[in-house]
Amino acid sequence: FPYPEISKEELEELNQLVQPVEKFFNEDVDSKKIDHEAVIPPETLNGLKELGLFGIQVPEEYGGLGLSNTMYARLGEITSLDGAIAVTLAAHQAIGLKGILIAGNDAQKAKYLPKLATGEHIAAFCLTEPGSGSDAASIQTRATLTEDGKHFLLNGSKFWISNGGWADIMTVFARTEVVDKDGQKKDKITAFIVERAFGGVTSGKPEDKLGIRGSNTCEITFEDTKVPIENVIGEVGGGFKVAMNILNNGRFSMGSAGAGMIKRLIELTSEYAGTRKQFNRSLSDFGMIQDKFATMALNAFVMESMAYLTAGMMDRPGVPDCSLEAAMVKVFSSEGSWICVSEALQVLGGLGFTKNYPYERYLRDCRILQIFEGTNEILRMYIALTGMQYAGKILTGKIKYTIVDEQLVLKKVADVLINLYAMTAVLSRTSRSISIGLRNHDHENIILCIWCNETCLCGLKLKKHIIFHILYIIVSPLCPAFLKRVEPAKLMLRGSAGPN
Ligand SMILES: Cc1cc2nc3c(=O)[nH]c(=O)nc-3n(C[C@H](O)[C@H](O)[C@H](O)COP(=O)(O)OP(=O)(O)OC[C@H]3O[C@@H](n4cnc5c(N)ncnc54)[C@H](O)[C@@H]3O)c2cc1C
Repeated sequence: FPYPEISKEELEELNQLVQPVEKFFNEDVDSKKIDHEAVIPPETLNGLKELGLFGIQVPEEYGGLGLSNTMYARLGEITSLDGAIAVTLAAHQAIGLKGILIAGNDAQKAKYLPKLATGEHIAAFCLTEPGSGSDAASIQTRATLTEDGKHFLLNGSKFWISNGGWADIMTVFARTEVVDKDGQKKDKITAFIVERAFGGVTSGKPEDKLGIRGSNTCEITFEDTKVPIENVIGEVGGGFKVAMNILNNGRFSMGSAGAGMIKRLIELTSEYAGTRKQFNRSLSDFGMIQDKFATMALNAFVMESMAYLTAGMMDRPGVPDCSLEAAMVKVFSSEGSWICVSEALQVLGGLGFTKNYPYERYLRDCRILQIFEGTNEILRMYIALTGMQYAGKILTGKIKYTIVDEQLVLKKVADVLINLYAMTAVLSRTSRSISIGLRNHDHENIILCIWCNETCLCGLKLKKHIIFHILYIIVSPLCPAFLKRVEPAKLMLRGSAGPN
């Protein structure tokens, strides 16, 4: 796992993009007002459009910025500073138009992407229904082929749809009748591009939510909406795979988004901790307050490392499947963000609990991360079961119980895998920093040691020498510098991760 490199040209391009976006978020975005009024003002949306943020990954030939996953993740560090905006942008491009990008044909791309890239048209992703949340395969919305075979008639209701009140273009999943190879009729899920302009589309009132209040979340109902057959994404009956590919593709960026938010919290909070005095001492002198900053720094570093390792792998030619890694980033980052926001709020004591400071908003906003884009419970099942597939084949017939029903065991397996991936990412990144003598590599090394030794090993409850064997195997091909410092035999004797 060599840590991914970004080319000099990409870095220059990225730096040019980052600066105006940062300026816009610092100067023109009023998050308190967005939260209070539960709407993003039109001038803020226009500013986002002018910066190209509605078409970050749409190829340049269709009018987008055409950025890689790595560059998308970097911009996510900034857009996450306002949760409502982050969700609005993600609903539009990470899931809303993604189906057209990854599974659409040339005609669909040419017709829809240019206006979506500029934000002239807004996209939404419509999978969830009142009776179908985590069990996405149980959707009931139906698309029936018309007698002339030219259209599908769409009927049903979609629930919790981000951008649902104002989306012009929707990726909608519905049951369709298909005839399989042996002539049997079956219901299968198909993905459609649906224009609001097709008619029969109504949106409910925006939901009054705990957080990300400025993002628009609505129920959408389709009543005999006439969708041309040309608007099927991929194959008729192939929609479930399209839905899973879209969701699997987007989750990795939660790592950089979480890290961006935590780094901002560290900035905001450190000023207070340095000036507020109790017992004649600054809060920053107290060990338990310092511990909160350490937690934030550790989490931000690990999330970043996981997100950019995954993004870098996804950017490799051949579109490798990184759905497992992306799910691990999502679970880790959503839970880490929640802990860190709570710790930052705690540093301010009572003030942190008031609306005069942004902490309570960050806390409310980041709670959703554990619920949408696949709940963390479902993703833990996915991580454990996917990770076990190879062993599962060997064990089939040899064990008596049904693994899928052993949820508490699966949860533990998922946590082991998430922690191992987190350690891999941090080791890979730090070993690179050490190898090339990057500024602050000593600091990274300290974070690495604390993370692996205290956080992960305690959490894993595995014997230390097993972990170090695994780490040694992971790191040995890529980092002679690490190996010089950490010999597994010594580690086993010392029982410590400290490479000093
Ligand atoms: C603000 C917001 C925005 C959203 N945006 C969109 C969107 O744009 N498009 C879209 O299609 N959907 C969207 N959703 C829907 C979201 O994806 C679902 O809420 C999510 O998938 C969970 O479904 P559910 O709410 O029906 O919960 P349920 O599926 O009913 O689950 C309830 C609880 O039970 C747990 N659970 C369920 N099954 C199992 C199991 N087998 N084992 C263990 N635990 C289980 C879940 O993890 C959860 O904790 C959004 C939701 C919200 C709140």
